[in-house]
Amino acid sequence: MIRGGVLVLPDGPRVLDLAIEDGTISDIGLDLPGAAEEIDAGGLHVFPGVIDIHLHFNEPGRTEWEGAATGSRALAAGGGTVFFDMPLNSTPCTTNAHEFDPKRAALEAASVADFGLWGGLIPGNVCQMAELADRGVVGFKAFMCDSGLPEFPRADDDTLYQGLKEAARLDLPVAVHAESQELTSALSRRMAEQGRLGIRDFLESRPVIAEVEAIQRAALLAGEAGAKLHIVHVSCGRGVVAALEARSRGVDVSIETCPHYLFFTEQDVERLGAIAKCAPPLRDAGCQEALWAKVMDGSVDVLASDHSPAPRELKSSEFWKAWGGIQGVQSTLAVMLDRGFHERGLPPERIAALLAGNPSHRFRIPNKGSLQPGNDADLALVDLSADYTLRPEDLHQRHALSPYVRASFRGAVRRTIRRGETIFQNGAITAQRRGQFVRPRRAKDTHA
Ligand code: ZN
Repeated sequence: MIRGGVLVLPDGPRVLDLAIEDGTISDIGLDLPGAAEEIDAGGLHVFPGVIDIHLHFNEPGRTEWEGAATGSRALAAGGGTVFFDMPLNSTPCTTNAHEFDPKRAALEAASVADFGLWGGLIPGNVCQMAELADRGVVGFKAFMCDSGLPEFPRADDDTLYQGLKEAARLDLPVAVHAESQELTSALSRRMAEQGRLGIRDFLESRPVIAEVEAIQRAALLAGEAGAKLHIVHVSCGRGVVAALEARSRGVDVSIETCPHYLFFTEQDVERLGAIAKCAPPLRDAGCQEALWAKVMDGSVDVLASDHSPAPRELKSSEFWKAWGGIQGVQSTLAVMLDRGFHERGLPPERIAALLAGNPSHRFRIPNKGSLQPGNDADLALVDLSADYTLRPEDLHQRHALSPYVRASFRGAVRRTIRRGETIFQNGAITAQRRGQFVRPRRAKDTHA
């Protein structure tokens, strides 16, 4: 029983009790009868647990970079209860059913959060997609530019189009990393030829137009294929506009951005170095404001961390060679509370929609994503008035290499509850049980 908290319901916050039975929300109301365990949530906001649909825990095979045990603990410390793991950078990558099974088993053994799995779409594996769908993947991830891993090659237009058609048949979305290979590789090559190896040069090698062009092309192919398209980590307002234009033509497209594009700018990359390197890169302040405007007006559907970890040695080489990826899994809700709620007046229920309601709806995850009877009791109890400065020792992930370290936040997660079990409380992980695999609801069994 969660007593007297401000429940962040889909239509707005209200002070009510929330009863839990067998890990499920059994009732919501005023002055509900007493229960064996009573949690006083007076003064706290009760959000639905964060569903982080985009991260890389790299298990199995690259757990020295992260791992589901450490990664899921960091997620829980940030109010998260569910994650979708990307098909890379585990080894092997999740591009067929044979690779799917050991990955699911490894995560079931290690994770304190519930989880879904993305399948991969790479040249040559379109015929494997049906089996992955039957295994329960949430969708298929493709790169339109080099992924950084030779074992996960980018999808050329033919692969992407064939994959989109197959995904449409399977009733699952395709997620794309949308940056033009032609533009980014030509610009990078020219920079290298000119000996331009600075941070600014890297940023210039991945311009906004490379992202906008790829979003338009992916949307065109998805529309032709009749597929659901999800654009991951849109970094700028113009990228959102490109996706919205496609939506207005009838393309079924959803738009994701990441907290780092809303929190940091190019100047922070120059200040912080490789720890803030990612692709698409952080943008200038004008792009960031345009992106915030698209979050505020409801155009952006989903916020996800794109937590992409690497050990320190891969972050300490020269900037161009350093591994790209921001290790922010613990800070997604924190950024939205501080920069969204406190700074811009983004209502709590809108934050809940971006971090839980829309993810569960778009990816059709049953019984998750909102506070309503019958759903899993996945909750984040937050003190909106508390403030703190993030220290390296606060991070539960494997490597304390987050660019958010030393940043200050208003709004602190006090407790995270996953299916009725408190998995994080006052700075410590308390989970006894493991997370469960979640799979999307699909309209039909489409195995060929
Ligand atoms: Zn990613």
